[in-house]
Amino acid sequence: MNTCCDYGKCTQGRDCPIRKQRAQEANEAFINGVWGKVADPYDEVTETFKALIAVIAVTAALTLISFFIWGK
Ligand SMILES: [Zn+2]
Repeated sequence: MNTCCDYGKCTQGRDCPIRKQRAQEANEAFINGVWGKVADPYDEVTETFKALIAVIAVTAALTLISFFIWGK
């Protein structure tokens, strides 16, 4: 009785439980996809931020070393 959608023709219309279930699954997959797309750039930004902090730290350290070596 619940196989009406398996042949591409739904005989139960909007009240079809399979159609509702597939719509819900598609919705959840969409939400997961959105969060996945949101999560990846966030990690990328975080990594870029860490790299930027590392560059600044190294630059500051080199500046301090240069200051102590040639600053006298
Ligand atoms: Zn159906």
